[in-house]
Amino acid sequence: MTSASTPEELVDVAVIGAGSVGAMALWHLSKVPGLSVLGIEQYGRAHGLGSFAGESRLFRMAYKEGGLYLPLLTDARRQWLELEQEAGTEILLQVGALSIGTETQPEMVATRETIDNFGLPHRYLDTEELRKEYPQHDVHDSDVGILDPQGAGLRPEVAVCSALRLAEANGVRMRYRCAVEAVEPGDNGVTIRTAQGVVRARTAIVTTGSWATELLPGVRDLVHVQRLALSWFMPADIGRYLPERFPVFMRDIDDVHFFGAPSLDGYSVKVSPGHLDLPSAPTLAELPDLPDDFGAHLAAQVTDFFPDMNPEPVRLTAHHEMFTADRVPIVDRDPTGSIVAVAGLSGHGFKLAPTFGRIARELAVDGTSTLCPREFTLAAHRQRAAALA
Ligand SMILES: Cc1cc2nc3c(=O)[nH]c(=O)nc-3n(C[C@H](O)[C@H](O)[C@H](O)COP(=O)(O)OP(=O)(O)OC[C@H]3O[C@@H](n4cnc5c(N)ncnc54)[C@H](O)[C@@H]3O)c2cc1C
Repeated sequence: MTSASTPEELVDVAVIGAGSVGAMALWHLSKVPGLSVLGIEQYGRAHGLGSFAGESRLFRMAYKEGGLYLPLLTDARRQWLELEQEAGTEILLQVGALSIGTETQPEMVATRETIDNFGLPHRYLDTEELRKEYPQHDVHDSDVGILDPQGAGLRPEVAVCSALRLAEANGVRMRYRCAVEAVEPGDNGVTIRTAQGVVRARTAIVTTGSWATELLPGVRDLVHVQRLALSWFMPADIGRYLPERFPVFMRDIDDVHFFGAPSLDGYSVKVSPGHLDLPSAPTLAELPDLPDDFGAHLAAQVTDFFPDMNPEPVRLTAHHEMFTADRVPIVDRDPTGSIVAVAGLSGHGFKLAPTFGRIARELAVDGTSTLCPREFTLAAHRQRAAALA
């Protein structure tokens, strides 16, 4: 509905959803000379309700998810450094990433395979080296370590806010606190209906994260939203967990997966569960809350890995992320060329956000992207889904 006092706005490219990928797409688009760009975000700038919330994210180059992602990770790392430089603030914490598990744990085997297949920098640590160099962890007798020196921590809220500030300084206009209600492709672009009037754009980039199914009906049968929790604990000696001594980590024992990051607040350490059995749902609106006994269950596991942690989470926060069935992201341009969709980022989405943003810009402006693997397209997703059916 357009109110009489709100004229229609005409732009070349509109980005809907200014979270992780949307902010990066806006930053990239802001560097294209002569392009009129509008960002539309239902909340404010770098709010706490997106999938990016939660102080830190992990960046890994020795990616157990496989070689498909390596060119993207290489691009992303370069861009994180570029964003950091342009913004004049620290975003990529270059602390390394440490994987801990037995030699035969599937995650460890897959990480080694990626390292060996692509000749990536690494250090393999045996049990005694691991105990000596990383005494913060309670290393079990069968545990070994893999250090990915290009691994890092990321500061997601700082990154999103920085990219948006830079985009706005370069001339991108933003509508904050403006929810998009519909995106309708037409003959000459796309009509975007918002609570504050209509916008017409040559192309709309839809990067609405866990809300994707509301504006992109074509992805509905391919995605689901999963509840994820983050938790922080207080160690006896915080000095051992500061960034200069404590890499981001992943720890796998059978089906239990934990990950975490060094202390950024000077009193607590992020130690969080990966795949505890939390309920998923087709849409964000249907997600139930965390179970009441979740904190206690978590504490019991955490103290097994970090004996000096106070077994009471000092912070426990609930988050959401949209997944596809095989955890491969969806990035595609519709046949009319008027909508670029980025959805179902399945845990890859923050470390690769600047690259997804760049691919979205390329698809919107050039119509094609050499960086975007065919596996990410809707057609490829449908083929894989049909093969499994
Ligand atoms: C707990 C947790 C831990 C994670 N750990 C990692 C990690 O270590 N490394 C990693 O790479 N990834 C990680 N991920 C995944 C990563 O954070 C996500 O993949 C990524 O943030 C998703 O980005 P997005 O742009 O798709 O969504 P978001 O960042 O959520 O952005 C979507 C934006 O769209 C806006 N929006 C939605 N609907 C509308 C509308 N109708 N109108 C206007 N605006 C709208 C939202 O308000 C939001 O700002 C983790 C995720 C979670 C939840």
